[in-house]
Amino acid sequence: MNFKVKCLGLQLILSILVCSTVLQKTFGQDKKPPNFIIIFADDLGYGDLGVYGHPTIQTPNLDQMAYEGQKWTNFYAAASVCTPSRAALLTGRLTVRSGMSSHKRRVLYPNSKNGLPASEITLAEQLRQVGYKTACIGKWHLGHKEQYLPTNNGFDYYYGIPYSNDMDKVVDIPYWEYWNQPDEAIKTNHFNVPLMRNTEIIERPANQNTITLRYTNETISFIKKNKDNPFFIYLAHNLPHIPLFVSKEFRGKSKRGLYGDVLEEIDHGVGKIIAILKEEGLENNTIVVFTSDNGPWLSFKLNGGSAGLLRAGKGTTWEGGMREPGIFWGPGLIKPGLVNGLGSTMDLFTTFSRLAGAKIPEDRIIDGYDLSETLLHGKPSPRKKLFYYRGTDIYAVRLGDFKAHFITQGEYGQFGKKEVHEPPLLYNLSTDPEERFDVSKENPDVINEINSLISDHRSKLVIGEDQLVEIE
Ligand code: MG
Repeated sequence: MNFKVKCLGLQLILSILVCSTVLQKTFGQDKKPPNFIIIFADDLGYGDLGVYGHPTIQTPNLDQMAYEGQKWTNFYAAASVCTPSRAALLTGRLTVRSGMSSHKRRVLYPNSKNGLPASEITLAEQLRQVGYKTACIGKWHLGHKEQYLPTNNGFDYYYGIPYSNDMDKVVDIPYWEYWNQPDEAIKTNHFNVPLMRNTEIIERPANQNTITLRYTNETISFIKKNKDNPFFIYLAHNLPHIPLFVSKEFRGKSKRGLYGDVLEEIDHGVGKIIAILKEEGLENNTIVVFTSDNGPWLSFKLNGGSAGLLRAGKGTTWEGGMREPGIFWGPGLIKPGLVNGLGSTMDLFTTFSRLAGAKIPEDRIIDGYDLSETLLHGKPSPRKKLFYYRGTDIYAVRLGDFKAHFITQGEYGQFGKKEVHEPPLLYNLSTDPEERFDVSKENPDVINEINSLISDHRSKLVIGEDQLVEIE
């Protein structure tokens, strides 16, 4: 046995010892570490679920999860568009560090050169290292070339469409004009998106009418196969991102139209996943999270969602772009309640690593906080601040109740041109969640505090090389 192998062996024994001590402290002597399921919607708004106030979309299963678990009212996606939001969730880091956000191209496309750098550590890699079985089911959007796919990023299994469901459009109608057609005219074969299992394309174009149903079924079968192991499932639905598609049995069911039909099918799938956890006796040792990657795509009018009372939507750093429903369910673990403290999808990396007994990487800055004391015991959230990045620039910062906007900009020609604010606009989000009344003049101390937070953040920041570039 050579020296390197011996060292690795010792390291492994040591990390198992450390993990088991942490786990025994958290869950008692005999308990297995908890299973984790992250259900991640695409472009779903803060106001789109029954339990978050939507008057006509019926989401009884998500509502029930919120009543039995925790409903967070200040829970945020880490970016306002798909690729950076997903990269940040899986790595626990702001994507300005990994190069997964850029001003040139905001997301990855089928003609993108790169994906999530191999040097980044994903939550799946963290959990697999301590014995979890891991699956990514659904939209990936962190690189579709083989080396960037989920199976090369800590997932044992992948089933899904590797990028957005509106990519690979093959009908010859300009993108923005295409949507002025009736829903029935928009066909699944207009988008030549691949459906993959692990690294193989198994269907092209993917039949998007049944995609939500199939993602739910894949999740259920992974749970059944891996019920004796701790497992982590990242179920990232392609919908309700446009183009909207739905199974026959849900079409025309919702009073909110096609968008509502799509959400009701997702909610139905959530109910089926909860039911299987109960059937398999796993409900007391599984945490299920439901949230979304960014706010509603308002340019698509009735085909886009609603941010409720929050301002603007997808693509912007107004609240509607990044604040999302955040539901945590786990009857044996999560202390039920309403949580007003701050949370971010980046915190899932740190929290789940900690609950699983995986060591948090020390060789890099991790932006996620450990929310486990809030989730398990109802303690106040440790997160007090939040950076709202667009590309590699800080557009806004939240500190406690206050949010300062240094730059504001709409999305795709809507909600205003780019504007720099000096002094920044300042809103108190507790009294003014709609961001209507600027209180910067009355609160110079808050602005000073936020400015020093930014200086401190920037002094330690190394901007990663842009990974969202096109193939030359
Ligand atoms: Mg999205």
